[in-house]
Amino acid sequence: MLLKIALPNKGRLSDEVRELFNDAGLEVRARGERALTASLGGEFEAIFVRAQDIPEFVADGAAHAGVTGWDLVCESGRELDLLMDLEFGRCRLVVAAREEGGFASPEDVKEGMRVASCFPRLTQEFFARRGQRVAVVPVSGAAEIAPHLGIADIVVDLTSTGSTLKMNGLREVGTVLESSARLVACKGNPVDTQQKLDELKQALGSVLAARDKRYLMANVPKDSLIRVREVLPGLNGPTVVDVLDGGDFVAVHAVVPAKTIYRTINALKALGCEGILVTRIERLMA
Ligand code: AMP
Repeated sequence: MLLKIALPNKGRLSDEVRELFNDAGLEVRARGERALTASLGGEFEAIFVRAQDIPEFVADGAAHAGVTGWDLVCESGRELDLLMDLEFGRCRLVVAAREEGGFASPEDVKEGMRVASCFPRLTQEFFARRGQRVAVVPVSGAAEIAPHLGIADIVVDLTSTGSTLKMNGLREVGTVLESSARLVACKGNPVDTQQKLDELKQALGSVLAARDKRYLMANVPKDSLIRVREVLPGLNGPTVVDVLDGGDFVAVHAVVPAKTIYRTINALKALGCEGILVTRIERLMA
């Protein structure tokens, strides 16, 4: 049986989703640019739909699983199993008000104020939880211009860098939700489907785990080994390999954080290491 995975057909998340699936060996093999379905190889098939429709598709069982923004899953109000956080598409759903409007926090929102948002359900819930009654003005995009058009007092909108809000003279005054792309599945999938989804999770997880790591190899003077161990902790400590005719050197291999690679290399050089080689890792299964 083919497992159907709903993926965003366009928009912010679609390129990164495809890249992640490709890197995990689930290459999107579409017959044309605008194909609605594509084989992912093996037992998976992709269905391409709008990111905002994915929670419905998955909840209704039209797809076994899907990838979309957590904001869209929450807004849909559908109950889905959250399988994993894919770590990209990070953004926040925030309450934002005009800079000159005198708002410093969501508490400053008064009874009956109009709040424009593409997320009417989450907006209503957020203010209701605080006992504030507001009038939600649902919009399907560009909520940030609503205060300037006089159709709302404040907005609840997505932001990542804050630059769009700023450009529109809006200031963030509170956070409704933190979001990122997530793999979700419908509740009550049969056991064999769940097993295949676990394999999918592992494959995607191993790619994500490898992205911020590098594989480092270096020839290390034997008498520096102890100090090199402090620089290269690796996953289970570095691998030490004898080098044929290596003299006073041994080869050391380790998985290291990409973020600190510059410092690591300098520290190794200072310890007399030679032949330092750094490569990307495709997958990492700890
Ligand atoms: P789309 O409307 O198809 O481009 O997808 C929008 C989705 O991308 C949102 O629902 C979020 O999950 C995600 N996203 C990530 N960063 C942002 C951002 N700065 N603004 C809007 N959406 C974002």
